[in-house]
Amino acid sequence: MDLLKKHLVKPGASIKLASMKTVPDGPFEGKDDARNYCEEIIEKLREMQYRLFVEAKQSLLIVLQAPDAAGKDGLIRKMLGRMNPQGVRTYPFKVPTPLEKSHDFLWRVHKCTPATGMISVFNRSHYEDILAVRVEKLAPKEVWSKRYDMINHFENLLAANGTRILKFYLHISPEEQLERFKERLDRPEKHWKLNAGDYESRDKRPAYLEAYEDVFKECSPKHAPWFIIPADKKWYRDAAVGSIVYETMKEMSPQLPPVDVDLDKIRRLYEREKAELEKT
Ligand code: AMP
Ligand code: MG
Repeated sequence: MDLLKKHLVKPGASIKLASMKTVPDGPFEGKDDARNYCEEIIEKLREMQYRLFVEAKQSLLIVLQAPDAAGKDGLIRKMLGRMNPQGVRTYPFKVPTPLEKSHDFLWRVHKCTPATGMISVFNRSHYEDILAVRVEKLAPKEVWSKRYDMINHFENLLAANGTRILKFYLHISPEEQLERFKERLDRPEKHWKLNAGDYESRDKRPAYLEAYEDVFKECSPKHAPWFIIPADKKWYRDAAVGSIVYETMKEMSPQLPPVDVDLDKIRRLYEREKAELEKT
């Protein structure tokens, strides 16, 4: 199953998001099939994360970008929920605070990149400093247009330092998005998520899509690729992202450290302690 190749944005590719599917076309037979596959992948991811953490030589950065209600939160819960919390961090990036704004745009981001052995997941990211800033007109073009290069340099630095970078765009249709907004309205425990701005963003969809297309074209090098994931079906979104993360971690091939103790000696020590206890 090569979902990695299927959803990869090749370096310099001209993507037209309006013509990209938001619903899956295979390889799963449906929801149950994808959910079963996902269960297996989550288990394998757990094992991989254990190895990455113990090896402590390389790290993984997962960047999630998407329109509202496309499912970043759900995906994070699903994919990371069973990993060892000691080895995983998630970071939400909101509108910058006054302190953050008083620094360069990568200042707050660099602090959240993963140390060796760790996985960082960005719920939104430094890409908002191009996307939101461009569409919401928070800074002039001469400011945001320089950021493609700055981001490429930044991600180069991370990659050269042993961080694998995967960037996912969850592609959701306006119809499915509205359906999910409705679900939020219908469920009191989700009312905290309601936000009039989300509806205003819908009018800006074409501008956002265009801004994303430029990001994909400029910022999808081999060592820090984007993947565009059809996200109308939650089961496909989870299975596809899980699969791509797993394939990548398999390639990273984290190894348990070599055993440098005398196992026979440790066994003898254990037997001696056990015998001591049994005497008393
Ligand atoms: P949410 O992820 O739905 O909680 O919303 C966070 C909001 O913060 C989104 O509307 C983002 O566009 C916005 N945001 C995140 N980072 C930036 C940034 N660097 N500049 C401007 N807006 C941002
Ligand atoms: Mg929101």
